[in-house]
Parts: sequence; C-alpha cells; structure tokens
Amino acid sequence: MRERDTDVLVIGAGPAGATAARTAAAKSARVILLERKECVGVLVRCGEASSMVDLKPFIEGVDMGEVHPITGFLSHAPDGTSVRLDNEMTRAFQTVVLDRAIFDARLAEQAVAAGAELWTEADAFEPLYNDTRLVGARVRRGREIVDVKAGMTIAADGIESRVGRWAGLKTLLHPRDFSSCYTMVLDNIESDDNLLHFYWGRDVAPGGYGWMFPRSDGGGNLGVGITETGSDRGQARKYLLDLKARWFPDAKTRREAAGALPLAYPLKRIWADNLLLTGDAARLCDPLTGGGIPQALVSGREAGRLAAEALHAENTGETYLSRYAGRLEKEILKPHRTHYRFRNAIGAVSDKMLNGAARRINGISMEERTIPGIAKAMFYFDPRLIPEFIKMGRDLLISSGSIGRS
Ligand SMILES: Cc1cc2nc3c(=O)[nH]c(=O)nc-3n(C[C@H](O)[C@H](O)[C@H](O)COP(=O)(O)OP(=O)(O)OC[C@H]3O[C@@H](n4cnc5c(N)ncnc54)[C@H](O)[C@@H]3O)c2cc1C
Repeated sequence: MRERDTDVLVIGAGPAGATAARTAAAKSARVILLERKECVGVLVRCGEASSMVDLKPFIEGVDMGEVHPITGFLSHAPDGTSVRLDNEMTRAFQTVVLDRAIFDARLAEQAVAAGAELWTEADAFEPLYNDTRLVGARVRRGREIVDVKAGMTIAADGIESRVGRWAGLKTLLHPRDFSSCYTMVLDNIESDDNLLHFYWGRDVAPGGYGWMFPRSDGGGNLGVGITETGSDRGQARKYLLDLKARWFPDAKTRREAAGALPLAYPLKRIWADNLLLTGDAARLCDPLTGGGIPQALVSGREAGRLAAEALHAENTGETYLSRYAGRLEKEILKPHRTHYRFRNAIGAVSDKMLNGAARRINGISMEERTIPGIAKAMFYFDPRLIPEFIKMGRDLLISSGSIGRS
C-alpha cells in the first residue's frame, strides 16, 4: 500500500469535480482529481442541453467541438397536439446541445493545465479518518491501492455519491425526489430544426417527460425521466422504447445508458469538517428541469475556491466551511427552492389539462408566448388554475424572502 499527501482531493471528474480541481489548483493548492472510469467523459448519461449564458464563464477559450444551437422548444401534449415556442424569449436562453464526452474531457484538461494531477481508473472506495474527521480516501488505482491523505476533500462523485455519508451527512433521497432516466443517442434523426423536443403524458413519461435534443452530428439525444410517484422504478427503458417506436422507428441506436437525477429540496448541509459536496453529489440538480450542468460548474467553482481559502487560513472546520451555502445562495439555492415548489405543483397537472393547455397556447401568437402571456392564456382556459398559481406565487415570495413563512 502506498501513501500520498495532497492539499485537496477531488473525488469524481465530471463538470463539478473538474471545475473544483481547476479552481483550487489555480489558487496554488496541490490537487489530486480522481476519476474511476478509464477516461473522463465516457458513458454519457445526459441530455446534453444547456444554456450558453450559464456555460460562458467556465469555457472561455475552450474548444468544445461543435455544439448544436437551439432557438426554441417544441412540446408534444399527450394527445399529440404540438406547441412551438420559438421567439425572442427562447432565443435569449442561448441554448445549445453539447457533446458531453468532449465537454467533460476539456474541463478536466483545464484542471490539469492549472496544475491538478488527474488519476483515471482511480476509484475512491473507502474513507480515511483521523478520529471522526474525514482526511482523505483509500483509492484503487489500477491494481494499486493508495491512501490519499488530504487537508480538504471535495465530493464530486455524482448521483451515486457515498462521500457525504462517509462524513455523516444525510444525502439519501426520498423516492419521490428521484427520477429514473434512460437515454439513447440515435443516428440520422429526421429533424432539421433547431428546437428541443419535449413529450408529455402519463403513458409517455409518468411524473416526468421525454425529450429529443438534436445534436450537431445529425443525430439526436432521445431520453425519458420518470419519477417513482408516477411509475414503478426501472421502467424508464420501456418508456423510452415506446417513445422511439412512436416517433423515430427507423433511427439506429448508437449508444444507450441508464441514469438518475436528484430532484430534491436543497439538503440541510453540504459541508462537514474538511469536506465540501458539489454537483449531483450535493443533490444540486434543478428539480424543475432536471438540468444539472450549470449547478455542477458553479458549486465546483465555489468549492474549489473555498477549499483553497480554508487551507490558507488553516481552518478547515465545519464552521469555517459553512459559508459555502451563502456563496451558493443566489445562483443556485434560491432558484432551487422555488423550482422544487413549481415541480410539485406542475406534477399534479393531468393529461387532460395538458392537452387543453396546448390547444390554448396554440391560440395565441408566437410573440405572445412569453411566461406572462402563457400564464394569462392558462387562466382563461381553466380558472381552477388560479388558486394553484396564487399558491405558487406565494411560495415564490416566501423563497425569495419577501414574506415570512406562516
Ligand atoms: C439521463 C440524464 C439526462 C440529463 N440531461 C441533462 C441536460 O440535458 N442538461 C443538464 O444540464 N443536465 C442534465 N442532466 C444532469 C447532469 O448530467 C448532471 O447534473 C451533471 O452531470 C452533474 O455533474 P457532476 O460533476 O456533479 O456529476 P457527474 O457528471 O455524474 O460526474 C461524477 C463523476 O464521478 C465519478 N465517480 C463516481 N464515484 C467515484 C469514485 N468513488 N471515485 C472516483 N470517481 C468517481 C463518475 O465516474 C463520474 O465521472 C441529465 C442527467 C441524466 C441522468
């Protein structure tokens, strides 16, 4: 058994881990970044869509290969009614469909360029403690076992994360706050548009949605995410095959993968003595959309920064590290709480209401299809929605701190 010392040990080289490693290394910390797979970015379990507005600060000067620009959305209601949303509002999102394999690999290269050491085929499988304090991890690196002792550990080990629990943090998710997903990359999708396609309905993706995101290589990322409240677990592949048979029967499957999304209310604590949790390991995925790339990048950046500062201050105790939550509040935690409430409200909408809403939106012009314009159309369509919207508005005000909880 070998031993290694480092300032910061980052477990997991997805977007969160690579960004944390780069940021800490840029602040002169000695960093080891672990990835248990053979190389970074393989086995993509993602729809690969994100907004350039969110990505820009992290990819300045980085060649991400070709990305597919998106101008809007096409939603398919349960009865097949299609609604197009392609206007100034949707273009402002500057959405793109990435190639996550390239994206993740480039982020890890940036970390290495900043001075981090990247270990692939390196699985952190056991915690190392000094009394009760986490001080690193035992790592299986190829055939070798290495004890990596670190002043700070950053957990970036994704949805299946165990590192938080090593330090006694409560990271287990309630089944209702968890979405099972299945995704396929299809060749030669017959879609020449620049729209993200969404598919809704209890028979399509109970408690979630289906998607087809066109890629720059002429293929498409087809997927479904379902929640246990709406379906048995492990059924995501079946729903995906049904979706494919209905919409893309002739497309060839290039690769497929199962995955899962945390869709939970923010955890009480995502830090402990010597430890910070990031990205999916901290359950920071957006509970409304299922998007988690920007949250991984932002939390990775803040964790890397704070880890280096804590080491510099020679204070890596939980009280010092508790400032992490404050640094994530505006960009991640506040919208996260609001979106969690929205998700619960939207989850109760029936197929009948979705069909009616689709027809209603189709009755207004493309320019009117803004968030207030759509909300107005919905009120006229079904006044029963008014109490629900009032409740959501109240939740919004509570989570923004404008009114107190009663
Ligand atoms: C089907 C699906 C579709 C999605 N679509 C989108 C989308 O379109 N847009 C979007 O923004 N988000 C999407 N997401 C969410 C997004 O993929 C995640 O939020 C994001 O990848 C989180 O990044 P991360 O770095 O926290 O974790 P990950 O990207 O999961 O990276 C964690 C890394 O840690 C490694 N690892 C794990 N354990 C260990 C260990 N013990 N030792 C060493 N290495 C370890 C893993 O191999 C992995 O590489 C989707 C997720 C799923 C499942």
